[in-house]
Amino acid sequence: MKLIFERSVEGRNLTLLPKCDVETAALPEGLARTSALNLPEVGECDISRHYTELAKGAHGVNDGFYPLGSCTMKYNPKVNEQAAALPGFADIHPLQSVETVQGALKSLVLAEELFGEITGMDNVSFQPAAGAHGEFTGIMLIKAYHESRGDSKRTKIIVPDSAHGTNPASANMAGYTIVSIPSNEEGCVDLEKLKAAVGDDTAGLMLTNPNTVGVFDKNILEITKIVHDAGGLNYYDGANLNAVMGVARPGDMGFDVVHLNLHKTFSTPHGGGGPGSGAVGCKSILTPFLPLPRAIRNGDKYELLTKNETSFGRVKEFYGNYLVVIKALTYVLTLGAEGIREAAQIAVLNANYMMNGLKDAYEMAYPGFCMHEFVMTLEGMKKEYGVSAMDVAKSLIDHGIHPPTMYFPLIVHEALMIEPTETESKETLDEAIEALCAIASEAKSNPEAVISAPHTTPISRPDEVGAARNPKLRYEF
Ligand SMILES: *Cc1c(COP(=O)(O)O)cnc(C)c1O
Repeated sequence: MKLIFERSVEGRNLTLLPKCDVETAALPEGLARTSALNLPEVGECDISRHYTELAKGAHGVNDGFYPLGSCTMKYNPKVNEQAAALPGFADIHPLQSVETVQGALKSLVLAEELFGEITGMDNVSFQPAAGAHGEFTGIMLIKAYHESRGDSKRTKIIVPDSAHGTNPASANMAGYTIVSIPSNEEGCVDLEKLKAAVGDDTAGLMLTNPNTVGVFDKNILEITKIVHDAGGLNYYDGANLNAVMGVARPGDMGFDVVHLNLHKTFSTPHGGGGPGSGAVGCKSILTPFLPLPRAIRNGDKYELLTKNETSFGRVKEFYGNYLVVIKALTYVLTLGAEGIREAAQIAVLNANYMMNGLKDAYEMAYPGFCMHEFVMTLEGMKKEYGVSAMDVAKSLIDHGIHPPTMYFPLIVHEALMIEPTETESKETLDEAIEALCAIASEAKSNPEAVISAPHTTPISRPDEVGAARNPKLRYEF
């Protein structure tokens, strides 16, 4: 593909605007350029085609299957975008007086009620802007709780090794020491190891459930009880609630605080660092410590709670990414209680359907039923044919499929983690199964072809670390 500078022709430009008739003012000395700015000189057609060509080179959920495990890249209904773009939501300012934004405050209170219902929690804050940000907020609530009771010896947070990597990082940011406990061969928390780890220095447990290997821990009630009996609190990483929403609630499993990734499960497209929301739900024992301001109902009016001595502080300005909450609220209201449950059931069904369709061609890290995602290990394939998880992922690109999550979770070697999501049809899943099976047989018959994939893209295998660390962003004339 030609770069925009290579399309440049001297003197060609867009002259749609009349000449400026206002006197120009000189820039202060030292601030003005000393040489002319070197910009490409192109017509409107060239610019338009240049960016369209670039866009066509990227793969998004509107292009095809995107089974990125642990990240939930699904098709989100456009109606949610339209709702969030309504001027009554999009054109208001957080410093407007409360009488003029009653509807906006009502939407926050309603969202708090609905997500409280979905998670089994008493209150919800939408201030955190991402999942990891929500984890930090949740752990700060636990910290404030222990401090309020004068219990200062609780300095440790227990994190199973099947947790998402952000869990130990967030707890550490909040000032805690991390105690890592290994999983058993089923991918679940080892109860004996947990019992040995808890004590009067335990501030809490952080559990990702379903965990990063796609398994729902069947001992969940016992796990939360062990931690409560030791005086700790339980944190639920609910980033991927699409496996359990409408079916089971963290609040009923003995958890005191949970975060949701509204930008994974509840209809905000993410990737590329777009706005997110790591909503945090908590039991009433933690409510006094929530960040402010909070929208609250007072009779038939809505108000802002802005002062509270016990709040641990704020983690973001105002109410977080408000429009992400509007998308999530629209999504939940559109689906309703039945639809939420059905979405979870289909997410789990689709994952099991794909896992079953692939089990003869690939080795599953944890055979049996999975939740919304499953993990394959290509360790055997690599040993026998020299074809790695990376090679299979790259080869999928030639089939029009975005690679799944690779080399994660860390406890599985040569891992490929697939999450089909609830939004894909059976036909799409069948095509993906067929493509993966074709790659598996090619790995045996002609491994070289898989190792050198992709063959259909402008660039085949960039130096990925180099491309990220030393990107070449400047055109060299
Ligand atoms: C994605 C994810 C996170 C982190 O969410 P961010 O919004 O990327 O900070 C945390 N836990 C789990 C299980 C996740 O899948």
